[in-house]
Amino acid sequence: MENHRLARAVLPMSVRCDTCQGHMLKGAKFNIRKEEVAGEAHLGIQIWRFYFRCSHCLAVFTLRSDPKNSDFAVEAGATRQKNLELEPLGAALDEVQVAAAAQV
Ligand SMILES: [Zn+2]
Repeated sequence: MENHRLARAVLPMSVRCDTCQGHMLKGAKFNIRKEEVAGEAHLGIQIWRFYFRCSHCLAVFTLRSDPKNSDFAVEAGATRQKNLELEPLGAALDEVQVAAAAQV
């Protein structure tokens, strides 16, 4: 789709994959696709949808920007987690990210 764009992004919150229950931590880097959410804006600010792939099982989960709250919201495929920001990133994460990046 023309309004899809590839981007490098940092996960803005810790989430748990609904498919494999794997955790992904805030600050982890992902290659993502993003698109404008058609017909939706808040006070003229475009809302974006971001397609991430689980770093464990590669299932897609989506976040969207939430300009009303200056935040992001999980839209589908994952569950937001709190209080996981201080855990260290697993070494295995990078390997799976490379695999995911190769598919883009
Ligand atoms: Zn997963």
